[in-house]
Amino acid sequence: MGKYRELVFNITLITIGSILFVWALYRCGIGIDWRVFLILLAFAIILDNIGIMYTDIKLSLSPTIGITTFLIFGTVGAATLMVSSVMFDTIVVRKKIKNGLLNGGMFSIAYLVAGWFYEFIGGKIGIVSFSQVKYILSYVIISFLLNNFILYYALKVQGKILFKEYWNESVLLELGTYIVMIPVSLLLAYIYFKHSLLFFVLSLTPLIFIAYAFRMIRDLIKANKRLNAIYEMVKMINSKLELEQILDTIIEVISQVVSVSAAAIYLTDSNGVAALVKSIGNREGEEGFKENYFKDEGIIGKCISSNKTIAIKDLKQDKRFLKEQFLNNYGSVVVAPLRFSGSVIGCLMVLHVETNVFDEDSVKIIEIIVDQASVAITNAKRYYEVTKKSITDPLTKTYNRRYFNDALMENIMRADETSEPVSLIMFDLDNFKLINDTYGHLVGDEVLKEVAKRIKNNVRSDDIVARFGGEEFAVILPKLTAEQAYMIAERIRNEVSSRPIRTDKGDIYVTITGGVADYPEKADSAEKLISHADRALYAGGKSKGRNKIAIYEV
Ligand code: GH3
Ligand code: MG
Ligand code: MG
Repeated sequence: MGKYRELVFNITLITIGSILFVWALYRCGIGIDWRVFLILLAFAIILDNIGIMYTDIKLSLSPTIGITTFLIFGTVGAATLMVSSVMFDTIVVRKKIKNGLLNGGMFSIAYLVAGWFYEFIGGKIGIVSFSQVKYILSYVIISFLLNNFILYYALKVQGKILFKEYWNESVLLELGTYIVMIPVSLLLAYIYFKHSLLFFVLSLTPLIFIAYAFRMIRDLIKANKRLNAIYEMVKMINSKLELEQILDTIIEVISQVVSVSAAAIYLTDSNGVAALVKSIGNREGEEGFKENYFKDEGIIGKCISSNKTIAIKDLKQDKRFLKEQFLNNYGSVVVAPLRFSGSVIGCLMVLHVETNVFDEDSVKIIEIIVDQASVAITNAKRYYEVTKKSITDPLTKTYNRRYFNDALMENIMRADETSEPVSLIMFDLDNFKLINDTYGHLVGDEVLKEVAKRIKNNVRSDDIVARFGGEEFAVILPKLTAEQAYMIAERIRNEVSSRPIRTDKGDIYVTITGGVADYPEKADSAEKLISHADRALYAGGKSKGRNKIAIYEV
């Protein structure tokens, strides 16, 4: 669908551009002095080449030559010059035939329409005076708007809308350059009409120096942005952030310093498998990232096991990762390892649909950011482990009472929101005192650990198993009614009693008794849910011979 729209757009643009151009030549003739034209063209091409690539837009001073040509030779001459210079630059210098044709079509439309409008409202060709400024302004603004309007849609049908922020910024920059270009063009045209050709050519040369100055300013802005990005990363390390926020920030910062079409972060687990933890892209759902990579597998596995950055400037030419289907959607890629104290903890991958997007400077800055990011990620993981410790019971590794209370409140609130039930099972080991007395406290501990394990193995991943007290366990079962929870409690009871528990003092048979209640059916608050499950445990279980599960009855 997207491809089809892009094709229709491209063909339409090139066709309209060509028809207008041919028609203009036929109607008006080109009307130029070829010698002067070629000199101007040479300057336009040089200026285009020292222009600044700003994401997908090229900022250059060549429009000065365009406007000068327009003032000297008129609409068709200026359009011919602009079309030739942009096509030369894109096709010959940057080797992008399709983009060259598109740019040609775009310039043809923009400069012809703008020129005709200039003539229509009474602008004159072949004379230079200050009264012309308002007409020239209209020429510049119309060609500018048409160019950017067409370019915007070209990017849009290609799905490159991620760069919208950049785009706005670069449009402003481009407009800014016209403040210089309009008066300079007027002056140049004036020189052409009043002075010798040699003097005119000499007057064109300072433009090249101005273009270099623009480049230097661009580099300064870029360097400043990169410093800021590193500062952001350092700041992040010192703030206690959630892992999720850190991953978001990393991607955000990276896309501020290099242009990206898509990015992904993978983190390795204790088995060395890399898992996708964060990804962004501008073609929603079409990035095609794989969820997991094993050791050495694909571009991610390779980066992690070699502990080296992989940077590919042209994916069409590189044959190393042919099996990675998703890479076909992109032109360039950088994968940089995330390291902490020598070992690799994951990697960051950035991709761009165009080739040759990440130069050596970009790779270096990505590596610096990623190094800082690794520290933040490790800190966040540690913090997570610390908080996890404060909510688990050290003996049985189930949640502790404090966490249980919070979780129960939260589940009741969620039940209210979704109008779904939540169930609670309370378990108590039968005659546990006897086990302690017979085999000793340490064996008792072993038994508790094993019972906890059997409970955990028989519930779903989002059920919460907690140690409620000494040898009592509580299980919160979201979305289940008491009757459904009863079935699970029965399964657990059976699991505990059917097999003996192996301990240092031999095999021990234990049984447990359980009570079940649910919210809001059998209890209308958290407190009542606990007390009703407990009541069922004693009234329906312990008092009726133990090794039983009972549902609370009003
Ligand atoms: P009942 O079937 O009526 O529940 O009999 P019971 O013997 O299990 O009675 P009760 O629930 O009152 O006894 C709980 C015992 O659990 C008392 C205590 O010594 C023991 N206990 C509590 N916490 C621990 C622990 O962390 N380790 C060990 N080994 N024993 C514990
Ligand atoms: Mg007890
Ligand atoms: Mg007991």
